[in-house]
Amino acid sequence: MSEALRADVVTKVYGQGANAVTAVNQVSFSIMPGEFVALVGPSGSGKTTLLAMLAGLLSPSDGEILIGGEPLGELSEAERTRFRGRAIGFSFQSNNLVPYLTALENVELMLRLNGKLDRAGRVRSRELLERLGLADRMRAYPGQLSGGQQQRVAIARALIHQPSVVLADEPTASLDTERAYQVVETFAHLIHEQERAGIMVTHDLRMVKYVDRVIQMMDGRLSQIISDRAEIDALAAMQSGSVETPAGATQAEDGDNGNGGGT
Ligand code: ADP
Ligand code: MG
Repeated sequence: MSEALRADVVTKVYGQGANAVTAVNQVSFSIMPGEFVALVGPSGSGKTTLLAMLAGLLSPSDGEILIGGEPLGELSEAERTRFRGRAIGFSFQSNNLVPYLTALENVELMLRLNGKLDRAGRVRSRELLERLGLADRMRAYPGQLSGGQQQRVAIARALIHQPSVVLADEPTASLDTERAYQVVETFAHLIHEQERAGIMVTHDLRMVKYVDRVIQMMDGRLSQIISDRAEIDALAAMQSGSVETPAGATQAEDGDNGNGGGT
């Protein structure tokens, strides 16, 4: 099996001269199909910037992103847009559902944009929403859904066009503990089952119990990669112990919940 995604010495500098900020600094890693990775680190460490580059939404200042062996930097703008629509699925921190489309229509939209909304696509959209526990909410508009339901619709939308790479920025940011676990567990399950390569940015280390690898960022660099199952579980357990809150309460308080506005 060949790698689904590779970052090859990727750097991103915002601004110029005295105002230059190196948000991502010579980052390299790769992810195989069926692998679910958590990208963690303090606010401002470069997680969102890295994710935007992996999604082909932002060009690196230096280095290269390859999706399925295809270097994104060698595609024209139009080619990259088309490639992104086909090969990459993403859900942003603010889930970006279209308010005047129903849950089902929001999911189908990804297929419509790719010119692939046929009968089979409609059936798959329904089935995916059912899998995500939204069978009776398909006709509801985003404003009529809870935060957790909206996140699950966003996840369905990120997966429906069967992309090889699925990226999620803080998918649990607006959820209580119980819902957060459910959403990430389902997400992990679908990534493994469908052999997507998944990356989830999270500041909530309890969620890493569902991932296969934890990539930690610090000041734009990869500071640590944890692949050992026991170590990952220990990391998640340690967090659960220290920040466990009653059901319905909010999550860890490291101040990254608002994403630092850094997009
Ligand atoms: P994280 O998602 O880990 O909080 P970001 O990728 O949002 O980190 O930000 C990394 C660094 O880049 C921060 O110092 C942030 O202030 C800066 N930054 C992010 N976006 C921009 C931008 N559009 N212009 C200038 N600086 C930015
Ligand atoms: Mg961020």
